[in-house]
Amino acid sequence: MTGIVFEIQRFCIRDGSGIRTCVFMKGCPLRCPWCHNPEGISPIPQKDKFGRLYGTEMSAEEVYAAAAKDKHYYDFSGGGVTFTGGEPLAQADFLAATAKLLKRDGISVAVETSGFASVSDVEKVLPYIDGVLFDIKNSDGRKLKATVGADKDVIMRNLKIFASAGMPVTLRCPVILGFNDGDGHFDAVGKLARETENVIAVELLPYHSLGADKCDRLGMERREFPELSESDIKRAATAVRAYFDNVKVM
Ligand code: SF4
Repeated sequence: MTGIVFEIQRFCIRDGSGIRTCVFMKGCPLRCPWCHNPEGISPIPQKDKFGRLYGTEMSAEEVYAAAAKDKHYYDFSGGGVTFTGGEPLAQADFLAATAKLLKRDGISVAVETSGFASVSDVEKVLPYIDGVLFDIKNSDGRKLKATVGADKDVIMRNLKIFASAGMPVTLRCPVILGFNDGDGHFDAVGKLARETENVIAVELLPYHSLGADKCDRLGMERREFPELSESDIKRAATAVRAYFDNVKVM
């Protein structure tokens, strides 16, 4: 079983508990105009205008071997491996095969997902993962569909599937002026966190323009959003905290 991976990053501390290796997988069905990893959107390897290649075909055993060499760090820090991207569920068979190898070694596995995937793809990976970082981009289904192309009902259905499987769920929420700073979105995030079983944290991810340079190099269009002030971030965090205590600004 092989898949397309565009980066394997060791010693990550922001994508789940403890020290982690992040495996960045190619392919995403969504088109978030602020995407920080635009090189992860296309499902196939691609080169930027300077000839840098994003994406390599790897076997499940190769990804396992690259990640398992840091098992010692995972063990003492409570860490593990996080599959991200791109959208890891877009390569569900490869993800399941790789996660199965890691689990066999007692390595904890997490997935960061937009939640936009079929039930069968979610069910393929569920037996092998121990936690999920689940994006909540906008509570307004029409804005979500119009801006990123996602169906809110699909995302909410999949959130329930992950949550009811008993694993810890972290809700990850970008904060983007002009997209989700109005209409009570962050109040809705707080309520969702409070009402969904096994949610352990809400992480707010303030918008930044770091993906812009990569989009230029890849010849991709990108929409810019206003920079956030401290008070914008505080307002979002306060709205969530009215319903749910464990809110982190990343
Ligand atoms: S879901 Fe994530 S990887 Fe996909 S386009 Fe949006 S931000 Fe980028």
